[in-house]
Amino acid sequence: IKSVNPLKKLKNEISHYVSKKEEEIDTLKKMETFRREFLADVSHDLKTPIFAAQGFIHTLLDGAIEDPEVSHKFLKKAAKSLDGLEVLVKDILILTQVESGDIRMHFEPIDLKEVVEEVFEQLESKAKKRDIRLYIKTKDPLLVNADRLRISQVLTNLVSNGITYGKPGGKVTVTIKGTEVKVADNGIGISEEHLPRVFERFYRVDKSRSRAVGGTGLGLAIVKHILNAHDASIDVISKLGEGTTFTFTLSKPENSL
Ligand code: ADP
Repeated sequence: IKSVNPLKKLKNEISHYVSKKEEEIDTLKKMETFRREFLADVSHDLKTPIFAAQGFIHTLLDGAIEDPEVSHKFLKKAAKSLDGLEVLVKDILILTQVESGDIRMHFEPIDLKEVVEEVFEQLESKAKKRDIRLYIKTKDPLLVNADRLRISQVLTNLVSNGITYGKPGGKVTVTIKGTEVKVADNGIGISEEHLPRVFERFYRVDKSRSRAVGGTGLGLAIVKHILNAHDASIDVISKLGEGTTFTFTLSKPENSL
């Protein structure tokens, strides 16, 4: 029988304990950096629409209000900034919820085709304004195990981007093949250097364009986190000037063949 040196055993235990604590400290440090960066990004993006709205309102108060035409124009601009602020705050709330990982998911068997049709209905007028057609292709639609509201959010963000970054006269096609979903557009595309970063929060290929079209830079980060919570990853392929395709695969409901 091999006898274990008690001192050596104790040393091993201590070093095991220390490395575990070091790991914990590392995680805490990462969380702190993440929190700090997130706050910096958020406050910067919150300031932009607030300053813009403030500017328009103060100009009105300084006298521009006397001219009905100018005041109408400025009020419209202030309202647009505040609308953008509302979207941003909503997106920040959704993202913090999904990023923190403590969202309660409600998994149930859902019909993806039905969800896509609802999303299309909500985005119809936006698509019309940009002269973009929405198509759904389903070969063998089957039920998937997913959180209906959150998957609807994923599809809304992807289809909405397809419309925003599509070319007038273009299309966005959602293809469902079993449990695999593709959202494809024939819009402006994303160049190779930007492609790996589009899922990062607040990352935009063209900041001024994204802002002008009401983008928050959070849509794809939200998509990625929601899919993560579904144990699903998302892939993107794109060609500049030709279009972009996002693909993700959900799982079948339990007990289904
Ligand atoms: P945003 O609110 O700016 O659209 P997202 O997180 O949804 O933020 O997307 C991040 C960036 O990725 C966008 O600013 C845009 O530059 C690019 N992008 C996203 N989807 C598409 C698409 N379908 N076609 C071209 N570019 C896209």
